[in-house]
Amino acid sequence: MPHQNVLVSDTKPGMDTAVMVAQKPPAVPRGYIPYPYPRSRRVLKNLEINGEQRINAWVDSMRASSPTNAKSSPSLAEEQYTSWILHHPSALDMFEQIVDASKGKQIVMFLDYDGTLSPIVDDPDRAFMSDLMRQTVRKLARCFPSAIVTGRCIDKVYNFVRLAELYYAGSHGMDIKGPSKSFKFNKDKESEEVVFQPASEFLPMIDEVYQQLVEKSKSTPGAKVENNKFCISVHFRCVDEKKWGELAQKVRSVLKEYPKLRLTQGRKVLEIRPTIKWDKGMALEFLLESLGFANLTDVFPVYIGDDKTDEDAFKKLRDRGQGVGIMVSKFPKDTSASYSLQEPNEVMDFLQRLVEWKQVRTRSRV
Ligand SMILES: [Mg+2]
Repeated sequence: MPHQNVLVSDTKPGMDTAVMVAQKPPAVPRGYIPYPYPRSRRVLKNLEINGEQRINAWVDSMRASSPTNAKSSPSLAEEQYTSWILHHPSALDMFEQIVDASKGKQIVMFLDYDGTLSPIVDDPDRAFMSDLMRQTVRKLARCFPSAIVTGRCIDKVYNFVRLAELYYAGSHGMDIKGPSKSFKFNKDKESEEVVFQPASEFLPMIDEVYQQLVEKSKSTPGAKVENNKFCISVHFRCVDEKKWGELAQKVRSVLKEYPKLRLTQGRKVLEIRPTIKWDKGMALEFLLESLGFANLTDVFPVYIGDDKTDEDAFKKLRDRGQGVGIMVSKFPKDTSASYSLQEPNEVMDFLQRLVEWKQVRTRSRV
């Protein structure tokens, strides 16, 4: 299926450079994909629970970046996207370069769920992935060790994905489970099943805060509080923008009594997590080690995600000088990922191409 990137098919002035990048990608040295251009990067920062200005800044930044506002000045949005795609070219356009860099290495796939495998929807309980996406991920997991890395709790994401072949890292990597033994890529099929919960001592506190947030947010229409076992998500997606500040203040008022919990920001969501130093990047590293790929020279991790919390994983890959990070977005975002895909349908195309590439290589060896 041809890549549907509007930039490539558009003939407006100023788009030529983007087309040129797609046709003449920069040379990629073997071994790893470098981050194509130096850039200023904003690290995901914890929101200061006691800092009112930070809460207001979050609400403002969320308003400014929402697609509704982007539509108000289409030419500016187009211009920004054109500039952004130069630094983060489409992973579909760069497919050959990516697989070329992986030669001689074991590809390991890491996939975020919401906004990556499933569309973003108003009701987080209805973020279903399509059957076609499920089939594609199943085929992918038969070709490469594959993991879902998500902010959701494992049970919830497993109900959506329903594939026993995968590793699951739920609650932003704080709840990790390996596949059943029969699906293991690990050479040692008899080794213990991977289970890792670095923040289990926080469970009672998380439950307590969840109850309080549910109570406090009742008076804000559309607010939804989700218990993701080791973290809590407060969803703003269905809340009137005029009420975002008020809801953020309510969250802050609960959290200020819990210094061992921290607040981070996602896509129209505030997330509460234990202060332990553990994130999706560390989960990625833990999984690579569990799979026996701690050795830098023989593994090629590919991480695909759409959210700020995925930045920890993109940064981890960049720091290790290994594999590729792919940001799923139709809008310019400050990211450490090398490449981009616009939406889950493009993610599916990319995964399908990887499967076909692997199948051709396997056949040619027989
Ligand atoms: Mg996501």
